[in-house]
Amino acid sequence: MFQYDAAKLKDQLLELLRLAATDLPQDVVDSIQAAHDNEPEASSARSVFGMILKNIELAREESTPICQDTGTNIYMVHIPEGVSMRKLTALIHEATAEAVEKSYLRPNAVDSITGKNSGNNIGEGQPYIHYEEWDKNTIEFELMLKGGGCENVSTQYKLPDVGLGAGRDLDGVYKVIVDAVNKAQGLGCAPGILGIGIGGDRMSSHMAAKNQLFRKIPDINPDSALAEMEDRLKKDLNTLGVGPMGFGGETTVLGVKIGSLHRLPASFFVSIAYMCWAYRRHSMILNTKGEVSYD
Ligand code: SF4
Repeated sequence: MFQYDAAKLKDQLLELLRLAATDLPQDVVDSIQAAHDNEPEASSARSVFGMILKNIELAREESTPICQDTGTNIYMVHIPEGVSMRKLTALIHEATAEAVEKSYLRPNAVDSITGKNSGNNIGEGQPYIHYEEWDKNTIEFELMLKGGGCENVSTQYKLPDVGLGAGRDLDGVYKVIVDAVNKAQGLGCAPGILGIGIGGDRMSSHMAAKNQLFRKIPDINPDSALAEMEDRLKKDLNTLGVGPMGFGGETTVLGVKIGSLHRLPASFFVSIAYMCWAYRRHSMILNTKGEVSYD
């Protein structure tokens, strides 16, 4: 049976939250730096990228949130057999409330009926925690902070889409993704990173799209057809000219990540999880000695 020291794990989870809120992952920083270097000198786009990079550096140095919206906290947790999800959830909640006290997180949980903010970032469905059992004798916590502005331009299509001439095939998928990015323009705090879920039902399709955002930007899809599509979409979307924050420029998306699920014969959904440049995600692995490693 996997055992851990609860008080210590709460502190380790608090550090995971601090990292996620204040320290953008290096693959994202490298990607933003490359986009900056690719813009012409004295262009608005280069200047916006320069400000974004300065913001990232200051947040890291001073342990302050990268953006005022610290987003929805989304956890993907892998556990060995026998570990209590209920107890882990309680520790995540404790760490979340403390992260708000320390100003790593903004209190972001608002009661949808009364409009009252819970004050500690905890509420029904927030943080969102998904558990999966695995064969390893470690616990992995993957955490993503998903901003509200980019979530507002995330969307879902149902194929066929007659208006877009999009049928039930990869060409149809391509067309609706281009349409979504065109409609978003700079509103999702571009450049975006797209997580795409093809298939499933309405709910699982959105989940599949969000799960894609746990991948690193430079990784390559093991499915060759999807890998080709990811590359093609990234190149083509970067000809749209939306640029950082909608100021125009060479980079509209930093990456496109696509996953697929089986679907019913009657349905063909394509879900698009749009992530902003503040692509905050980190993970933590806890071993049987109580040691953690962060990524
Ligand atoms: S969309 Fe992202 S960068 Fe824009 S305000 Fe929200 S969290 Fe911040």
